[in-house]
Amino acid sequence: MTQLKSISPLDLDTAQVDSSVADARPMFSSTEDTDILPCTPQHRRQPTSAARGRVLFAAMAAGAAAAAAYTMISPAEQPVTRTVLASTLTDTAAASRGVQLVAVKPVAGAAVDAEELARGVAYAAERAEREARLQRPLFVLPTRGLFTSGFGYRWGALHDGVDLAGPVGTPIYAASDGVVIDAGPTNSGYGAWVKIRHADGTVTRYGHINSWDVQTGQRVFAGDQIATIGNRGNSTGPHLHLSVLLDGVNPTDPVSWMAARGVSLGG
Ligand SMILES: [Zn+2]
Repeated sequence: MTQLKSISPLDLDTAQVDSSVADARPMFSSTEDTDILPCTPQHRRQPTSAARGRVLFAAMAAGAAAAAAYTMISPAEQPVTRTVLASTLTDTAAASRGVQLVAVKPVAGAAVDAEELARGVAYAAERAEREARLQRPLFVLPTRGLFTSGFGYRWGALHDGVDLAGPVGTPIYAASDGVVIDAGPTNSGYGAWVKIRHADGTVTRYGHINSWDVQTGQRVFAGDQIATIGNRGNSTGPHLHLSVLLDGVNPTDPVSWMAARGVSLGG
């Protein structure tokens, strides 16, 4: 028999798969060198839920594939292959890491239709991906940074976004699902940027970036790393300038726009 060990969300929280992501995020540095006077930093949500979604996806894919494998084999009612899970073994260390498949030597030289099995696995993976997508957050905090300047007019000019200060190289994530419409150097004061168009026509723009991980035309999901914080263009210190452009042209306050979608930028 095949037994699937159910994985609770708590188990996923303790999974070690994505611990390196959190470890890799550098701490904040002083914001005294930014262009605008710093304001009080505020606690804000971290984009760990996206990473958790990926862990869930991996676990679900493994579990679903195991189920499919068993389904494909069992109708023959022959003891051709036994698939067991590590979680049923005594190796608790392996079990604590989640679902693992352990291949057991076939008893008889059986004809498992490899093609059918592959189809079953593909179906299971597709279904797991679909379900995992439903678990993913729709909007995430674009970066860990200190909120140093808000949206609004400064000395007669519109500061059309918010500034989130952080060390050069700090990861920047897509605020929501969308398609990259520009990535790389720009002649504007932003030095280099990434622009993402979302399903409703809104464009999020990430300026002063040091490096970019995406290219025009690429589809991204909320929480995907798209760039890193930099100090390019008209910038007096490393920070992300985040703009939200309604219909791709009209800047709106990212703080309220993100707050309406469950994400606090601070400020
Ligand atoms: Zn700015």
